[in-house]
Amino acid sequence: MSKTIRRTPKEFLRLARREHGDRYEYPEPYVRAAQKIRISCTEHGDFEMWPQSHLLGSGCPDCKTGKKPNGYWTKERCQEKAQLCQTRMEFQSRFAGAYDKSYSLGWLDEIGAHWNTFSVPNGHWTEDVLRVELLKYGSREELRLANSSAYSAVHNHQLQRLFDEVYGPQKSHEIKWTFDKARAEFLKHKTRQECHQHANGAYQAAFRQGFLFRALKGIPNAKGGFDHEKPAIVYYLRLHTGQFKIGITNRTVKKRYVGETHLFDVICVKRFDVGMDAQIVEDHILSHFKHLRYEGPPLLSSGNTEIFVTDILSLDAEAA
Ligand SMILES: [Zn+2]
Repeated sequence: MSKTIRRTPKEFLRLARREHGDRYEYPEPYVRAAQKIRISCTEHGDFEMWPQSHLLGSGCPDCKTGKKPNGYWTKERCQEKAQLCQTRMEFQSRFAGAYDKSYSLGWLDEIGAHWNTFSVPNGHWTEDVLRVELLKYGSREELRLANSSAYSAVHNHQLQRLFDEVYGPQKSHEIKWTFDKARAEFLKHKTRQECHQHANGAYQAAFRQGFLFRALKGIPNAKGGFDHEKPAIVYYLRLHTGQFKIGITNRTVKKRYVGETHLFDVICVKRFDVGMDAQIVEDHILSHFKHLRYEGPPLLSSGNTEIFVTDILSLDAEAA
């Protein structure tokens, strides 16, 4: 059996200083190896740690993660960092602490006024304002490239008819998909979800021409899969980890997320009589904001595919 070396408080202090310099204060004297010691970080305040770990080099957990001390992120400091970033997302990923502070205190719009994406105030894009904006450009594509905020507002408010009104009807791929051709295409797949996924062009075209469900007749839904024929909702959630999620379901949010509802707040729910209409809204939003998708460890059991790093629909402030 090995003998425990009993250190004196003075010896502990000497070794701690040798390892860490004067980075830490020790408000209570060292007692013994088997008792955690209270340590005070000059930046972050008190924490407790096993004495031996501390002597071997471990220190303040907040220093390790680069967390700034309380009160560090003043508005001026946040602004300074925001100026270094081109987008809200860049700010969030490079200066998470500053972002969180700015977000919680409502400074984001002000300090990020130079970010060109989605920073117009809620309610800015009314139909009339959008029409005026659309008229400045020659085509949908020109608008999309020059003013993504207006472009996405058209989709978010389901005002696609404004596109037709200003730019003329879109060249249709629908001519290609007659009922017979779409039906033949769908019959190659086992479930409706597979048809939607692998024959999306035919699927969309059939829906717009009004014969989707007829063309899908006899093809079953995947077990637990989204039913395009039944009523459905589009929902928009704020995760407590800071991200935003959009999704569709034939059920309620509560039933869809049994056991997980404590992980988010529901910001918005919109009901559709036909699931396919909900799917179209979701598809538009997902493809339009795909550059803002969250990538990282799974946040919900259903995965990360419809999670975004920022409030893409700018609905959070409205709900607050
Ligand atoms: Zn620290």
